[in-house]
Amino acid sequence: MQEKGTISIHTENIFPIIKKFLYSDHEIFLRELVSNAIDATQKIKRLSSLGQYKGELGNLQVEVAFDKDKKTLTVSDSGLGMTADEIKKYINQIAFSGATEFVEKFKDAKDANELIGKFGLGFYSAFMVADKVEIQTLSYQEGATPARWICEGSTDFEITPGNRTTRGTDIILHINNDSEEFLDQHKLEEILKKHCAFLPVPVKFGTRSQSVEDGQDDKGETKYKTIEVDNIINNTTPIWTKSPSELTDKDYLDFYKELYPFSDDPLFWIHLNVDYPFNLTGVLYFPKIKKEVELRPNKIKLFSRQVFITDEVKDIVPEFLMLLHGVIDSPDIPLNVSRSFLQADSHVKKINSHITKKVADKLADLFKKDRKAYEEKWSDIGLFVKYGMLTDEKFYERAKDFVLLTNTKNEFYTLTEYQEKVSPLQTDKDGNRIYLYTTDPGKQDAFIQSAEARDYDVLMMNSPLDNHFISQLEQKLEKTQVKRVDSGTADSLINKEEPLPSVLSEEESSAVKAVFEKTITKPGMSVAVESLSPAELPVTVTMDEFMRRMKDMAAMGGGMGFYGSLPDNYKVTVNSNHPLVGKIAQAGNDEEKTNLAKQAFDLALLSQGLLTGAELTDFVKRSVAML
Ligand code: ADP
Ligand code: MG
Repeated sequence: MQEKGTISIHTENIFPIIKKFLYSDHEIFLRELVSNAIDATQKIKRLSSLGQYKGELGNLQVEVAFDKDKKTLTVSDSGLGMTADEIKKYINQIAFSGATEFVEKFKDAKDANELIGKFGLGFYSAFMVADKVEIQTLSYQEGATPARWICEGSTDFEITPGNRTTRGTDIILHINNDSEEFLDQHKLEEILKKHCAFLPVPVKFGTRSQSVEDGQDDKGETKYKTIEVDNIINNTTPIWTKSPSELTDKDYLDFYKELYPFSDDPLFWIHLNVDYPFNLTGVLYFPKIKKEVELRPNKIKLFSRQVFITDEVKDIVPEFLMLLHGVIDSPDIPLNVSRSFLQADSHVKKINSHITKKVADKLADLFKKDRKAYEEKWSDIGLFVKYGMLTDEKFYERAKDFVLLTNTKNEFYTLTEYQEKVSPLQTDKDGNRIYLYTTDPGKQDAFIQSAEARDYDVLMMNSPLDNHFISQLEQKLEKTQVKRVDSGTADSLINKEEPLPSVLSEEESSAVKAVFEKTITKPGMSVAVESLSPAELPVTVTMDEFMRRMKDMAAMGGGMGFYGSLPDNYKVTVNSNHPLVGKIAQAGNDEEKTNLAKQAFDLALLSQGLLTGAELTDFVKRSVAML
């Protein structure tokens, strides 16, 4: 009895397409075949538990084997098997039901991966690497006879009686000449490790030697012998399939090492477990982030029922959490996942916002339960939190309660705590709270000291995102301005009352101003004489907060080319109440005035790190001469 037929498809073009273009990655054929074998195994288990299959389940492992001489690769299972009719139904017809449409669309598609998600061509991916594919199968059904299907990469197939004597299926691939790399032990092992490492049914690939106890010798010492055991390549119960209550911290850390063998321990983790409105399990780890935002080789791995799909999780995981590591498993994501599918899929959007929510919950929880530990981890998690707040409005709403501000004294405050702390002293005459910050405590030390002398607090804002974070704070917090500590004199930063009366008369002030204007030859400097406290420096050089921020943004590629191209503009504030300035006003001749002004100006530049090169040398010489 032999049956020949034609696979029901209206075009002959499908095979060349499968071979060349279907997946850019040919190796996924193995994932498809092994996962079909796993499916068949799971199905027989279910039938058995439902009482619809009464026979023995036996050893339910899937086996992958190859024969270099015969150029075959075989995937075997002891799953439910197929009858000849089922082969016709599932392999010949169903698999190709969408194929005509597929071929039509493929003509215009730029990327075959854009289409693949829509068509169940899993089994046929075997033709990417094989000229001829053979199925030997025996169905679990009572009275079933073994069946064999063979197809040589055209739309013609043949079904004959088969030779399989036990329940299950062998898929035998006759590997084509271009694909002989898939007849290599290491290559196959590598693919299996990548895609099949956590499959729910044991997958055997060859054998390996193992030393076992073998009684005792004459002296009563234990003897050992070497035996061959099945080489099972997978861990069938990875931790994300278990309940968090069964797991210890060590289990999580061990699993992290299993995923990323060469990494430092993670800071903490989140176990995801959702069954409504979609199915999702997984474990996400917060890695230790080294100072610089590093290119990270470890990525989140996406699984579907324990089959590895991809580590390009761009659309599933919110962008700000892309630095996390770990696994996500969702049966709602098809194996043949494509980027365009992910973007359009409503499950994916829900998964995305669920993950955001879970991460926020976890952080809120850590903060509440152990504030000290949370503060210790802040330098690592601060970046996630700020990035999340900047890019995700919902996350901002959650995170505003656990984002921390740190000051120059290394103290941590929540937004509310900080507002309470600084409000009494740092509110200006218009009722605005002024937050001061430094990006570089070394360079801005003179200004920090001057602020701290007034008991003002200075925040540390020296992480890569702080520029944006500061703008966000100003937008979100009511009546709050954030100023860099060197963007004005301490009195002008937090303008509390009418200026002090000036010691100098109006004429004297304008004379002093003229002296400074004449003395200062650097471009972009504008002079103002103000009556500050005598305790302030005689001359202060500052860059306006707004101007500096625009320039910073432009430098970071913020698209503000106009500001970026502006020269640096500084304000030179001359303190009319400082004794030195009084001395300049009173000085006997112009040369003395100019010398004093120049010296006071250079001192101001020096404290800002703006005095360099020849100007610095001049200054040193002049100072020595004066002494
Ligand atoms: P999918 O797995 O998405 O259904 P495939 O093209 O991979 O699509 O497989 C088509 C069908 O062929 C499967 O649904 C199943 O009915 C049948 N099949 C494939 N491999 C096996 C197997 N090893 N044992 C039993 N049935 C199989
Ligand atoms: Mg399949």
